[in-house]
Order: sequence, then structure tokens, then C-alpha cells
Amino acid sequence: MEKTNVARAPMNQLLADLPSVDKLLQAEQSQKFLECYGRDELTRAIRLNLQLIREKIQSGSLMTAPTDADIMAKIQTWLEVRAKPKTKQVINLTGTVLHTNLGRAIMPPDVVEAIAKAASEPCALEYDLGEGKRGDRDELVEEILCELTGAEAATVVNNNAAAVFLLLHALSNKKEVVVSRGELIEIGGSFRIPDIMKRAGAKLVEVGTTNRTHPKDFAEAITTKTSMLMKIHTSNYVVQGFTNSVPENEIADIAHAQQIPFVVDLGSGTLVDMTQYGLPSEPTPREAIAAGADLVTFSGDKLLGGPQAGILVGRKDLIQKIKKNPLKRVLRVGKITLAGLEAVLNLYRDPQRLPERLTVLKLLTRTQDSMNHQAVQLLPELEKALAGTSMRINTLPVLSQIGSGSLPIERLPSMAIAIEPIDKAGEKQVVRLEKFLRSSETPVIGRFQEKALLFDLRCLQAHQEQTFISIFSAAATRISGKA
Ligand SMILES: *Cc1c(COP(=O)(O)O)cnc(C)c1O
Repeated sequence: MEKTNVARAPMNQLLADLPSVDKLLQAEQSQKFLECYGRDELTRAIRLNLQLIREKIQSGSLMTAPTDADIMAKIQTWLEVRAKPKTKQVINLTGTVLHTNLGRAIMPPDVVEAIAKAASEPCALEYDLGEGKRGDRDELVEEILCELTGAEAATVVNNNAAAVFLLLHALSNKKEVVVSRGELIEIGGSFRIPDIMKRAGAKLVEVGTTNRTHPKDFAEAITTKTSMLMKIHTSNYVVQGFTNSVPENEIADIAHAQQIPFVVDLGSGTLVDMTQYGLPSEPTPREAIAAGADLVTFSGDKLLGGPQAGILVGRKDLIQKIKKNPLKRVLRVGKITLAGLEAVLNLYRDPQRLPERLTVLKLLTRTQDSMNHQAVQLLPELEKALAGTSMRINTLPVLSQIGSGSLPIERLPSMAIAIEPIDKAGEKQVVRLEKFLRSSETPVIGRFQEKALLFDLRCLQAHQEQTFISIFSAAATRISGKA
């Protein structure tokens, strides 16, 4: 009993001695904070930090009185951390070019400029400048989409998942949609074709088997309730071995013989033949349309290399019907998306220069030689930073991924910098290094392969090299204790 009373007295004294909110607001340092963050935010910072200190005193973890300067330092840190954007730029050295969790496509400067312009000024988004009356926002990109895909009409929504949902809701509500069992895909982030169908009010009719589907499977599934035959690009996996899938033109013929539309969800889709750049082949909307597809959907921020969007192209009457569905209004895109999309589509008019101008393609077409050269250049500085640690550094040929389900099994020969432990202590250091890099001011994201930490250089652009070196050096120095 005695003891707790003895302990309680100084605790109360500590609490009573804490400065008031007003006193801290009047402090000289506060004037600077007032200018930067405003009165409300500063008051919030003071209250909250005083509260935290009070709790520490009460729990016994703080036994001595903090000075006003100590408290102000805490307040400053709190204010600075809060003011930093949460949408942080990171350096993606994972080797996955279209990394969904890291924001997918990096957009080219031309596209960024178009987006900035659209964001900072009013623009003729839905305004017919010729007639001086209300227009249609899709018209900003419809013509170029038709030109690049061979379709009659086009419309744009928030993302490709929305495009698929909208077309099912508009064309297949309370009706049947025939899909091969080999294509009932799940894409990361809970996009499952059967679930999307259900939510859109469509009844899924599965045909064929997981590995083999034949033309007669489609033909025999058609009833008076069938609204469409659908093909879904199996973008994130492949079925190998004893397989058969029905080519698009054959499904189209079966559908058209019964006056039913044939719809293709391409997923990534790209507007030009990727093999001309030495990349694996990826189906294009133009090919699907030419094969007889009545509607094709694809993403704006996968291989296309632009902003997040879902693009629908195809027959005019079907696009009209989709646009009349009230959900089109729910899923519509804004001016920032349309400005970015228009700018990125424009680049496709000149396929020869696309690898220089479209950032995604520039990264995908980097040669192992160029990355090796880059690795050799970076190595000495990084190696120096590791002195005194139990880690060693090497270059390592690796295979990068395109990502976002594009060309799932294809890998691109790439070059990485590998940080390996020399001993048991080194193993822990590598883990800490990864964590320090990930939590630095500009986070650097690599990946582990066994016990080695890999930095795939495919996505390291020249302007990021110096930042990478300084972040790496700072992190390594923390581990070697040389700081
Ligand atoms: C990626 C993908 C989607 C979803 O597209 P988002 O733009 O991510 O919404 C749908 N279908 C297929 C086949 C895909 O690959």
C-alpha cells in the first residue's frame, strides 16, 4: 500500500507539470507550425501528443518530466508524418512491370501532361463545342478507339471488371450466358466470372470441360433464353496438355447462326501486335473484332499503358444499349481518365515509335544487356555501402513478369542485383535491409528468392538510379552501424 502511494505522488506531479495546450500554442516554434499546417491541425497535434504523454506517465513507462522542447519535437514529427501523402511513389524493383498492387501502368510524360491539363482547367468533357450544347463524353475517345480496333462504336467505364459487369447487366439480365468451363476465371481481388454474372442478373451456362471445349458444346447449349456466347481470355493461367478451346471465329459463327451476339473479355488486350517488338503475342481487340466478336472489353492500365479504365468496343446497337443502361452513369469515368486515355491512344497511331514513347513498352522491351550494363554501373556504390555487413552483392540473371495477368507464363530475361547473406548474421541483415528499404522515404520494393534479396532492374529508370543508391546506402549504413 505504502509503495503505490509513494509512486502515485510523483506521477500526479508529472501530470500537473505538463504544459497546457495554450502554452504550447504560444510557444515560439508553434508560429512556424501555424503557418505550415493551420491552427486546427496544430491544436489537434498538441492535444493528441499531450494525451499520449499523459498515458505514458499513467502507465509508468515515463518517469521523468518531458521538457517543452521534447514535446514540441514530438508534435513536429506528428505533423510532418501526417502531411506526407499516403499515395507514396515507390521504386518498383519486383520485376513485375504491370504490378497491380503498385498501381499498374506507369504513364508516359505526354499522358501525364494531358492529365494535369485536364485536372487544372475546365475542359469540354461533355460539351458539344460545335453546337454549343450538351455532348457525350465517350466521343472524346470513340473515334480513335474505332480506328485502332476496327469496331463501329466504343464506350469507357471505370475498369474492365466494370465493363464486363455492365455489358452483362445491359444485355443478359435474366438471360443465359454461355461460357466454356475452361474460362471461368478468378482474377486477384475477388473478380470471379460466376459471381459477376450472378450480380449482373445473368445465368451462367457452363459448357465443355476444364481442359476441352468443342464447337458442338456451344451449339447445343443455345436455347431461347441465351443472350450471348462469351469468351474470356484466361489471362492469369494456362491449361496445358490434352486441351481444346474453340477459336473465336467458330464461336462467332455459331452465335451468329442463331442471331446471338458473341462477346470477348480480353482482359489486358493491347492495340498492336506485340511480336513486332520481340514480345510474346497477346490478342488484340482488332483480331477479336475481325474474328466476328460483337463486343470486346479490355483494360486501360494493363498492356495498353494508360489510366485505369474499362473499354468496350463493338457493334453500334449493342454499345447504344449498354450506354442507355443506368449503370453506365454509375460506372462512368471522369475527365482525368478520358484525357489520359486519349493521350495514350494517340501514341498508338505511330507503332514504330511506341517503344520509345509508351513507358510500359519501353520497360518491357529493355534488353538484358542494357540492364546488365546498368547493374555493373550501380554495383561499386552499393557494394561499398555493404562493407562491414555480413551480406554480399552480385548481379544475377533473372526472369521478369509482365504482370496483371498479361501473358502469364511468359517471362522476360532480365538482370537483378542480388544481396545474399554470408552467414547466419547475414540472414537477419538481409531481412532488415528489405524492411528498411520498404519503409524508407521513397520505398524500394524488391523480392526474396530463398535467402537472397533481389532487385530486378527492368523497371529502374535512369532518373531513379541516384535515389536508389542513396536509399540503399542509408539502409545498409544503419545495419553496419557505421552511421
Ligand atoms: C484484368 C482482367 C479483368 C479485370 O480488369 P480490371 O481493369 O482490373 O478491372 C477482367 N477480365 C480479364 C480477363 C482480366 O485479365
